[in-house]
Amino acid sequence: MPYEDRARLAGLWQAEIDLFRAQRPRSAQLFAEATPHLPDGVPMLWMAKWPGPWPVYVQSASGSHFLDVDGIDHVDLCLGDTGAMCGHAPPPAVAAISAQLAKGSTFMLPTADAAAAAALLAERFGVPAWQFSLSATDANRSLIRYARQVTGRPKIVVHDYCYHGTVDEAYATLDDSGAVVERRGTIGAPVPPSLTTAVVPFNDIEALEVVLATGEIAAMLMEPALTNIGIVLPDPGYHAAVRELCTRFGVILIIDETHTLSAGPGGMIARDGLDPDAVVVGKSIGGGIPAGAYGMTASFSALVRESLELEDIDVGGVGGTLAGNALSLAGIRATLSQVLTADAFPTMIDRATEWTVGVQSALDEFHVPWQVTQLGARAEYSFRQTAPHDGAEAAHADDFELQQYLHLHALNRGILITPFHNMALMAPSTTAADVERHTVAFREAVVSLFA
Ligand code: PMP
Repeated sequence: MPYEDRARLAGLWQAEIDLFRAQRPRSAQLFAEATPHLPDGVPMLWMAKWPGPWPVYVQSASGSHFLDVDGIDHVDLCLGDTGAMCGHAPPPAVAAISAQLAKGSTFMLPTADAAAAAALLAERFGVPAWQFSLSATDANRSLIRYARQVTGRPKIVVHDYCYHGTVDEAYATLDDSGAVVERRGTIGAPVPPSLTTAVVPFNDIEALEVVLATGEIAAMLMEPALTNIGIVLPDPGYHAAVRELCTRFGVILIIDETHTLSAGPGGMIARDGLDPDAVVVGKSIGGGIPAGAYGMTASFSALVRESLELEDIDVGGVGGTLAGNALSLAGIRATLSQVLTADAFPTMIDRATEWTVGVQSALDEFHVPWQVTQLGARAEYSFRQTAPHDGAEAAHADDFELQQYLHLHALNRGILITPFHNMALMAPSTTAADVERHTVAFREAVVSLFA
């Protein structure tokens, strides 16, 4: 167990619960009003994972801050788990989206923004052919279908402890014997995941070669660094080896940059010169409204298109009535050209460096055996001494109670970090003072636990 003094932790937790209750009466009232029709008072059950006796209800947000209904200002380092990486309500995106909304939002016909958005994405990620969705999940689902279609193979391979949205095939982990099993907590799996999915540890080239050599694999779906089980960075040479194996075995290599876009304007693909067959982005690219996109090389795109009959193209399993709608496309075009620009990233990355230094200095001061990893504008600490090398190592360092305490401690001091792990993300509008608020509060939390 990463933190031994459970009695101390229990006492600290109770004190933070009491503080939360005292500070948030209006949220309590909204919670009471919501529960008759919303299980747990939230529109999505996973929102119940936030720490505290009831959710914080939001009043309004702007840039890197939000105000809750009790009038408390928060520095938002969660940023909608990347959905609001642009900062809340970025003015150029709001203007473009509002203007399009007033002119109609969904036609099942393209607007001029569609080609402009695709060209912006092509320039950033280096693959020319783009399609749009309402979420990164759906972009992943669509590419998996296309990969099966053109290869005629049944399975995909993913990394142990990956997350790619609610994609059935990706809910698979390795058990202690190395067998593919349902990930803990999987809800209602349609079939055993070993039928659809092979799983390899991150950074394990030998395991990948064994799996690809079976000839059953249509696609490899991967984040270029794991970001959903803490941050796990690739070893030097890992990406080149993955590329070589996928080419050798005719496997479509899909790189999901939904979170790793934090590395720079073209994600890790552009920063590190990666060479995928297909790319997925989502969450932040619409400036705060639902939008996802997937790009393909010319050869993969041509294979897909040649394999489809026009007569059946609407019922093949890649669709979405509102996917590619005019509102999303207006949002993407404005966001990529005016908000999440190449010029915005150096500042965001500087802020994440400051956050990392702040966390590290508190850990050093009190000799705490935890580590911090930064990936561009995103950073994360984990309850282990060295950076994790694969997903299982990262997962084993988890301590849910400790994490909940740290998150509630931060929340009570006006700081929001993602409820899923200990991650902070910087928007173009995040300031040094915002980061400093976290640095001060984190040190205080470390004192409470270790001093
Ligand atoms: N891919 C990655 C890498 C993600 O982290 C997530 C969500 N955390 C998704 C896809 C799915 O995004 P969405 O829930 O917006 O579909």
